[in-house]
Amino acid sequence: MDTWVYKLDGVNYINLTNKCTCACTFCLRDHMDGVGGYGLWLEKEPTAEQVITILAGDQTDIVFCGYGEPTEKLEELLLIARFVKGYGGRVRLDTNGHGSAINGRDIVPALAPLTDEISISLNAPTAARYAELTRCRFPNGFSHMLDFAKKCVQCGIGTTLSVVDVLSDEEIEACRAIAEGLGARLRVRHCV
Ligand code: SF4
Repeated sequence: MDTWVYKLDGVNYINLTNKCTCACTFCLRDHMDGVGGYGLWLEKEPTAEQVITILAGDQTDIVFCGYGEPTEKLEELLLIARFVKGYGGRVRLDTNGHGSAINGRDIVPALAPLTDEISISLNAPTAARYAELTRCRFPNGFSHMLDFAKKCVQCGIGTTLSVVDVLSDEEIEACRAIAEGLGARLRVRHCV
């Protein structure tokens, strides 16, 4: 049975897809089948209606954070987010920041009214290091991600950039300077 919605600390996490534009060297998908005891590989991606039906019976805050990049399923994401904002829930999106490149248009104006917080994977302080660590399918993935982050801050979404502690201390401080320069926070995640 596919896990489309899973609960951690009272918040429903939405697992829309396993598609991703990156193949990060530290991705936990390479050595785990899920998190929190939930298997997150999907045989079938959910429709927006299927997720909304689940949330209708359990009206919590939500996080789009599955085993893949949520903006690969932008239309579903926006429908679900609109439903959650309708009952007064908070919406967070965890993303690699490639949503505009994936969808071929600037998606931040569509996200902004429906997204309280966004966590964007910065991953590295330079384009070369980013390419090495993320093995992103976009040659200019680093600049796509930074441009997306800049627009999120400009549109007033609470924005956090994240790195994984596979970086050196010097690299993490360089990432902190990038985040602060954009007006965002930096979060350092532990590599599992
Ligand atoms: S962006 Fe996230 S889901 Fe995609 S490969 Fe990297 S760590 Fe894995």
